Amino acid sequence: MKKIKRKTLLYKSGVEYADYCINHAEGCSHGCRFPCYAMMMKKRCGVIKDYNDWIKPKIVSNALELLNKELPKLKDKIKTVHLCFTTDPFMYKQKEIIDLSLKLIERLNKDEIKCTVLTKGIYPKKLSDLSKYSKANEYGITIVSLSKRFKDMFEPGSAPYQSRIKSLKYLHDKGLKTWISMEPYPIPSLSRDQSLAEVLSAVKFVDKIIFGKLNYNIKVTEFQNNKEFYDNCADFVINFCEKNKIEYHIKFGTRKKYNKKTEKVFLEDLRIKNSANVLI
Ligand code: SF4
Repeated sequence: MKKIKRKTLLYKSGVEYADYCINHAEGCSHGCRFPCYAMMMKKRCGVIKDYNDWIKPKIVSNALELLNKELPKLKDKIKTVHLCFTTDPFMYKQKEIIDLSLKLIERLNKDEIKCTVLTKGIYPKKLSDLSKYSKANEYGITIVSLSKRFKDMFEPGSAPYQSRIKSLKYLHDKGLKTWISMEPYPIPSLSRDQSLAEVLSAVKFVDKIIFGKLNYNIKVTEFQNNKEFYDNCADFVINFCEKNKIEYHIKFGTRKKYNKKTEKVFLEDLRIKNSANVLI
């Protein structure tokens, strides 16, 4: 795997459910075709050339060194660190990235900083070793379908859905906190055999579910019942979570009829952060 060096690592995130964040690779072999927002941004900024460039990840070789340098200055401000928003920390079959993610989580936990982690890969069992990793960490997987056909088409390089769920269930059974990012949830024309109820019941054991709509895809703008569809899905997720005592968050912009007040507060807060030059 190619290596790159960065000047900084930790940054304050603008994502509504995250605090600080790190991205210790450039690119992602999962190669999502929703499309991947991170890939679009990197392409727009000229960091990568194209999709083929994106799916050959480069590891940030000085990530641990940067973390050791930045933590003493920032640790009193940090509530949580999220891995990752513009790459995947447990990228399927990418041992170097997986090993580095484990080292970074261990280092953050050593300073009693909780990590929230999100992957479309498979969690290593060793994360349940509480002598190295904190019990406060929250481990999430992205699941928007159970269909292999859908996965092969839209998330070609990622781990099979059942393997992702199995690795998450292992951590749950060891007493660790687990969550699901159900985003971007596909519209019916992209996943015809889709059943929201089936996906939810496959991950019923988790502590939290985050649900969000599909953006940046031409098919969504063409889909006339887009707003009504996502309102109904969000209601379904909320009912399911309340019935099963699962915490939930519906991403801003997913429902047209709710969220306005909280969304306004969040956007105002983001505006203030932006004016203070905080990285999004
Ligand atoms: S897993 Fe995430 S970062 Fe990787 S290609 Fe898919 S959407 Fe992009």
